[in-house]
Amino acid sequence: MRRIRTIVLCAVYCLIATAILNRAARADEISEHAHKLHFSSIVLDTHDDTTQRFFSKDYDIGKQNPDGHVDIPRMREGGMNAIFFSIWIDGRIMGAPAVQKALDQIDAVHENVIKYSKDFAFCRTAEEVRRAHAQGKIAALIGVEGGHMIGNDMRVLRMFGDLGVRYMTLTHFYNDEWADSSTAKPEHNGLTDFGKDIVREMNRQGIMVDISHVSDKTFYDALETSKAPLIASHSSCRALCNHVRDMSDDMIKALAAKGGVIQINYERSFIDQAYKDAQDKFSGGVVALIDQLKKECGDNEECLNKKMTEMTDKATAEGKLPHVSWERIIDHIDHAVKLVGADHVGLGSDFDGASMPEGMDDCTHLPRITEALMRKGYSDDDIRKILGGNLLRVMEQTERVSREIEAAR
Ligand SMILES: [Zn+2]
Repeated sequence: MRRIRTIVLCAVYCLIATAILNRAARADEISEHAHKLHFSSIVLDTHDDTTQRFFSKDYDIGKQNPDGHVDIPRMREGGMNAIFFSIWIDGRIMGAPAVQKALDQIDAVHENVIKYSKDFAFCRTAEEVRRAHAQGKIAALIGVEGGHMIGNDMRVLRMFGDLGVRYMTLTHFYNDEWADSSTAKPEHNGLTDFGKDIVREMNRQGIMVDISHVSDKTFYDALETSKAPLIASHSSCRALCNHVRDMSDDMIKALAAKGGVIQINYERSFIDQAYKDAQDKFSGGVVALIDQLKKECGDNEECLNKKMTEMTDKATAEGKLPHVSWERIIDHIDHAVKLVGADHVGLGSDFDGASMPEGMDDCTHLPRITEALMRKGYSDDDIRKILGGNLLRVMEQTERVSREIEAAR
């Protein structure tokens, strides 16, 4: 009897052990497959404020830096092989000084790409991004974050196009002369007539129309005006975190219906409701917080980011702000995919310009996103689209619209 009991017990233990080992083996298989998929894909991030760091003597994009989120060694480690360098200045700077500062930054991107041409290839088209990837290079692109930088002058927009700018957000935190922002009091009822002309000219120049930062009305006006699909280069889902910088489900559906793509932003206060609520109480929201920090930093965004990280880390350690996990990024991707399908979602981290959630401390952690999506059952094709394919499709459509407009003139 005792012998039979021993045999039965042994069999049960064996089954359990086999099940555990099988599960571990499957987990390893997924990890390995995710790793292969990630490092063979175009991993394109549409919003990085790394450009601001080019003006700091302590920063060298060619070397691994102890702070911030992006440099070449860390991009290589995280498999991030296509980047939109964001051109950004305070939205209250208008006219000629705005144009001058934007040109300084565009030049800094080109100079850094030339300096590190072994790693970078400057790209103006989706095809060039694919070619750069095939050559093992990192595709470097430019996006302008805020329509105020054209100095209210259409000719400057055209020059930006010539210099390789491939998207422009219509506003930043403040209204510009022709479009309302989501974080300012409305004054134009969306886009003015001139603002609509700007959108049409962007279509002609092959510059993607970016609706991150704009008011809901500006979004709908741009959607109606643009012949090409729109992008949100760095916005998340309002259904999961009720922030004006995020997009409502209706907006995401309308964006997708026209072929556009929402590139999910990783900023803690845009992805986590509890954090956003606590931050509102703690500092009056992200715009007020930046205004407060500007008193110490002026227009030095590198200083702003450093101070913001220090302040938020300290407040989190003291329990004044809740912890936010990188897995919230996956929740936002999954929400948008469930809403409109995998063809309309991508990645727009806001690295070097926002507070990253825990576990996404810099771009070396990007492979986690691929693995998490795979564990959720996403197909390889869908993951590749989210990692970069969708944005390249919109870029191609924008190029096509541009050619059609020119041909019809
Ligand atoms: Zn932004």
